[in-house]
Amino acid sequence: MRRLREITPGVLVATADAYTTTSTVVVGDDGGCLVIDPAVSVADLAALAADLAGAGLRPRAGFATHPHWDHVLWSSDLGDVPRYAAPGAVAAAGSWREEMIAQVRQEAPGHDLELFGRLAPLPAGAGPIPWDGPAAQVIIHDGHAPGHGAVFLPGAGVLVAGDMLSDIEIPLLDVDADDPLGDYRAGLRLLAAVPGVRWLVPGHGHVAGAGEIRQRLDADARYLDLLAAGEPFDDPRCTQPWLRDSHQQQLRRVTGLTSDGLG
Ligand SMILES: [Zn+2]
Repeated sequence: MRRLREITPGVLVATADAYTTTSTVVVGDDGGCLVIDPAVSVADLAALAADLAGAGLRPRAGFATHPHWDHVLWSSDLGDVPRYAAPGAVAAAGSWREEMIAQVRQEAPGHDLELFGRLAPLPAGAGPIPWDGPAAQVIIHDGHAPGHGAVFLPGAGVLVAGDMLSDIEIPLLDVDADDPLGDYRAGLRLLAAVPGVRWLVPGHGHVAGAGEIRQRLDADARYLDLLAAGEPFDDPRCTQPWLRDSHQQQLRRVTGLTSDGLG
């Protein structure tokens, strides 16, 4: 793991080797902090906790951007604090629990499964993350996964996008949803409308500064337009076999054929 790096005062980002997964830490005035998507391996979480302790920072709350196994991890070293997610994400994490446990056992073995995926819905269903540090607004949509929550930090101008707006991954749709394209487009529109974003942190990939954010939005919108057209196409981010497989699956889904041919 590349250790915690301050991208702007009060916002730290660590990047794991696995899938270039980011974890974001929001620092409060009194040494309390909010930990978003701690990931991925047991060693990564131990290093994150050690970095926080070394910097005199104590987690006060956690947030999971969405109900995929690599975003709902936790370690006792990070403390026994409330871990929030959007209500739709909490519900999905509950119903997919066994499947996600199988994935974490395969991809990142050794985590304390008692802590895995233990999320509480945001009070009142939405709005800011309830903690006593800098304001953290949650932007909820169903693109990529049910109850996907991006976090906007208006004071720092940072948008923690979850699994959207990546420079190394294509948009990954929730192909089991009724309207995967519509859900994703609605999510992108919400993110594009957030005012005052100066830093963008994707769930996988590299932090973008203000000059690059528009390109990320345009790249994802272009991908969705080409997908909607239903013709084969390529995307420069399709560099890994699993991304090419996902791309083909998405093409089949939007052209009306599921991967098992049942339509
Ligand atoms: Zn995901």
